[in-house]
Amino acid sequence: MPSYQKILVAIDLTEEAPQVLSKAAEVIKAHGAQMLLVHVVEPVGYAYGGDIPMDLTELQDQLDKAAREQLAAYGEQYDVTDDHQVVTVGRPESEIHRLAKDHNVDLVIVGSHGRKGFQLLLGSTANGVLHGTECDVLAIRIH
Ligand code: AMP
Repeated sequence: MPSYQKILVAIDLTEEAPQVLSKAAEVIKAHGAQMLLVHVVEPVGYAYGGDIPMDLTELQDQLDKAAREQLAAYGEQYDVTDDHQVVTVGRPESEIHRLAKDHNVDLVIVGSHGRKGFQLLLGSTANGVLHGTECDVLAIRIH
């Protein structure tokens, strides 16, 4: 296995995130690599479709703030400094592709539910990340 130096770990801040993080931390330790911890906040406008005119800025800011706080807590737990914690807004797959490139990472780690059949056709973030990331991608199986 090649030696990775900079590893992007994408987490969704659900109760599954610690599973991804603890495995990722083992990989990072084994490689003596640096972690870039990433969470993508999805734009609230996506959920509401814009049918009802309303100002969602405050809600978006709150989601952003909550994500930063949660990421900071994980950062403290896993020794990831502030400048290696990234919260961004957008589509998770696209943002992960962009950040992997911008930060010149050599491995991306995501969680995967190992969906099958119809669910697989619908796609998953892990799939989306795999198709479009130029570096290696490691999918941690979520149980
Ligand atoms: P999903 O396919 O949505 O169940 O997500 C699988 C994995 O993709 C998660 O375990 C994370 O590693 C990553 N992921 C999903 N959503 C996000 C997000 N909003 N920000 C960062 N990573 C995410």
